[in-house]
Amino acid sequence: MIEFKGVNKYYGDFQVLKDINLSINKGEVVVIIGPSGSGKSTMLRCINHLETITEGELTINGTLVADKKTDINKLRRNIGMVFQHFHLYPHKTVLENITLAPKKVLGKSENEAKETARYYLDKVGIAEKADAYPSQLSGGQQQRVAIARGLAMNPEVMLFDEPTSALDPEMIGEVLDVMKALAKEGMTMVVVTHEMGFAKEVADRIVFIDQGQILEEATPAEFYANPREERAKLFLSRIL
Ligand code: ADP
Ligand code: MG
Repeated sequence: MIEFKGVNKYYGDFQVLKDINLSINKGEVVVIIGPSGSGKSTMLRCINHLETITEGELTINGTLVADKKTDINKLRRNIGMVFQHFHLYPHKTVLENITLAPKKVLGKSENEAKETARYYLDKVGIAEKADAYPSQLSGGQQQRVAIARGLAMNPEVMLFDEPTSALDPEMIGEVLDVMKALAKEGMTMVVVTHEMGFAKEVADRIVFIDQGQILEEATPAEFYANPREERAKLFLSRIL
């Protein structure tokens, strides 16, 4: 479904991604881990063309992301993204945050969009917060709204960039639980996270990236028990 083939990316002279080769199948959950600055966010951002690759091929369902002929808006509609810092609209209610894109981009009616929004709010466990403003919610609740907002577009794949790393410890679990449920329903997910419990429970594969290179690809069981790469060992010894 998502395929990186020999992908290089530069920021000026600096090479941020080095010969990335990675295939992600429909229904797979892939966790990307690696030190700060290793290129994890850049990888995710290339998938929905928030960043452009410099060399190589990146395709989604066979469509080249960076091709001039590709309708990038159409492609993006199919990709939900959840960021570390929620990115909710502060002056809109929870419901408005979720209905905005389905109305604007998918042309849904107000009622239809609201119905969908309420369905997903219920799913992430905060149906009662529909009329609240983001500032009235905890970080964990805001992140669940952000997930509901992504899901309301009915995407084929969800990208998560360190979705719990800005949260107080007591709120991490509620967000991970929503993500675990999503994974178990068969959503294709690419998740940048250092949450080992999550990775062990739902990831099909762990991808370890360092200095722009994929150094190791393994099942969670293999990776956490016995990373092959020295740099992966060192990294794990620091975060665990
Ligand atoms: P990670 O998410 O793994 O922490 P990033 O993908 O955010 O890493 O960044 C990888 C590297 O690219 C870092 O060295 C970062 O400073 C650099 N970088 C990220 N975005 C830009 C940019 N827009 N311009 C120049 N350098 C950037
Ligand atoms: Mg990052």
